[in-house]
Amino acid sequence: MATVLVSAAFVKGQGSQPPTPTGATAITSTPEHFDPVAATNAYLAKVPPDKKAKSDAYFEGGYWLILWDFLASSFVFILLLATGWSARMRDWAERVTRFKPIHTFIYWAEFLVFISVLTFPLGVYEGFVREHKYGLATQTFGPWLGDQLKGLAVGLVFGGLLMMALYGIVRRLPRTWWIWGAATSLVFLTFFALIAPVYVAPLFNKYTRLEDPAIRDPILSMARANGISAKDVYVQDASRQSTRISAFVTGFLGTERIVLNDNLLKRCSLAEIEAVMGHEMGHYVMHHAYKGLMFFGIIMVLAFAFLSRSSEWALKRWGDKWRTHSAGDLAALPLFAFLILAYLFVLTPIDNSYSRTEEYEADIFGLNAARLPDAEAEVDLKLADYRKLDPGTLEEIIFYDHPSGRVRIYAAMRWKAEHLHELGNRE
Ligand SMILES: [Zn+2]
Repeated sequence: MATVLVSAAFVKGQGSQPPTPTGATAITSTPEHFDPVAATNAYLAKVPPDKKAKSDAYFEGGYWLILWDFLASSFVFILLLATGWSARMRDWAERVTRFKPIHTFIYWAEFLVFISVLTFPLGVYEGFVREHKYGLATQTFGPWLGDQLKGLAVGLVFGGLLMMALYGIVRRLPRTWWIWGAATSLVFLTFFALIAPVYVAPLFNKYTRLEDPAIRDPILSMARANGISAKDVYVQDASRQSTRISAFVTGFLGTERIVLNDNLLKRCSLAEIEAVMGHEMGHYVMHHAYKGLMFFGIIMVLAFAFLSRSSEWALKRWGDKWRTHSAGDLAALPLFAFLILAYLFVLTPIDNSYSRTEEYEADIFGLNAARLPDAEAEVDLKLADYRKLDPGTLEEIIFYDHPSGRVRIYAAMRWKAEHLHELGNRE
């Protein structure tokens, strides 16, 4: 309600002389006295040193996990090839039935279970022990394991279907499979992104409509103002798994949903929630879902081109030892898995930079839509629970899929510096 009144006051102020600052609060000082850099530093200084050290340690530990994950999975893939187990898994799949797509599915199931078992200890450390150690997890081991098994089942079904399609293509088009494989993967990914919010996400969390009009109505008002015809805002019961605050836009072509999680509702003020939702609406209005698909389309075509060349070379060299000689042979799957993993590992900074750029765009959109720079800065501080606030430039380029707290708060303070007169009555 307060927001609606304030918004009305703001609209009235437009087009006429900006309201004269009353001088009632420090914030309504004249623009000359508001320094965005100093304001940013003041926000960053609000985080106590021990809390900052903890969040830095958590986030920096994540850098190493990217490496350990890559090494652990690579080890398992190469083990499968070098020991001949992959060839044996293929032989076994071929004994069960004569129907080729079923071979693919059975091999995929064997492969997925094998790597899940071997990387399980690392998964437990990364997803359970470490999250608890930093106070970010709320789940006990049983429900956590349950979620992992659900994830495995989703991977089995959707991965299995994709593999059946891809191997069908590789066998029929031995020379040009990489082009069609990339196109098929993209179509598949698009399809998955389309149905995931409706059919997959509810396996892990409950999504309910936000009913509280005091929160819902200002959000829907902002949505309408920005041409989003959403009638509902969804709440995800993320507190089932973690303490992290988050919101997101998911789906497209009619399955779009603006979702905020219950941690955000519990831990943030209305102004902070509006600042976050302005950001999420930015993703929506700027069609980030579609642009993301285009970006991944390019990544995918290059990936398949790389797979085609490099796998041919590796199979010529080690095929006898691995008892697999062609891309169409299921036993070569660990080789493809290794190659794609290596490709994505190298591309980490590019992926992150793509995402970070869109997130920054959404931040700017959110500032202009919600017009709550201080609330935005407060949320950015809360995000420091799990994201280092103030990294080096190169560190941010390589590892950050969202802008750092410093960059986000500075953007908010820079916006604020140019809108001080309009904000006189608000903050
Ligand atoms: Zn975002």
